[in-house]
Amino acid sequence: MSYELSRRDAIKSLGLGALAISFGGLLNGKLFAAAAGGGGAVPQRKAYELPALPYDYDALKPQISEEILQFHHDKHHMTYVNGLNTALQKLEKAREQDDFAQVRALSRDLAFNGSGHVLHTLYWQSMAPGGSAEPDGDFRSAIDRDFGSFAAMAEQLKNASIQVESNGWGILAWEPLGRRLLILQAERHSDRAIWGCRPLLVCDVWEHAYYLQYQNRRPEYVQAFMEIANWDFAAKQFSQAIGAAEVMAR
Ligand code: MN
Repeated sequence: MSYELSRRDAIKSLGLGALAISFGGLLNGKLFAAAAGGGGAVPQRKAYELPALPYDYDALKPQISEEILQFHHDKHHMTYVNGLNTALQKLEKAREQDDFAQVRALSRDLAFNGSGHVLHTLYWQSMAPGGSAEPDGDFRSAIDRDFGSFAAMAEQLKNASIQVESNGWGILAWEPLGRRLLILQAERHSDRAIWGCRPLLVCDVWEHAYYLQYQNRRPEYVQAFMEIANWDFAAKQFSQAIGAAEVMAR
């Protein structure tokens, strides 16, 4: 049943008549204005874009080489951004033509490239030139509560990252339903995720993230990542996440 039909049925069954219809018209008009950039709560939409690196290509040396950052950001991350936009364009075309024969493959492309884009955007922020101080305040209290200590959390994150099977990610995340921090592995970009979790700090362990500098020595790369981990960024994300979680947890 289409949205229009069900809405009409709903109005009819509620017996609201002309008043409801004119209200519906107003509502539609408002939504339309918002989509066209006429204001309202829905933000204007644009294509996904490659974010600028928050530092120079050589800023993470010696832990991450200039060559790796350039390839990783300019080529690999760009590919996910393009793949995401392409998947969305193809889905739009499928809706226009009412032909959903490819929807399974397109949904896969959407999740793979979309998750790849989100995680890479977080990854650049997850590192800071020279590293950062250990977290303190509420974020530190939550780490101590959920992992026992900062050192134990860092050790689990390191080992989870090292032990990802083939390509993927190590992820420190906030889980809003249980209101706790978790460490997850992601295979590829989205397998093994828990819905609703907010990634706070992410370590890319796809080979393209380290092979040019570390070859097959993933543990050495992950150790280097931990040296430059940006706990200040993770703490900012944490304080947003614990506020945003309230709505879902209720
Ligand atoms: Mn990557």
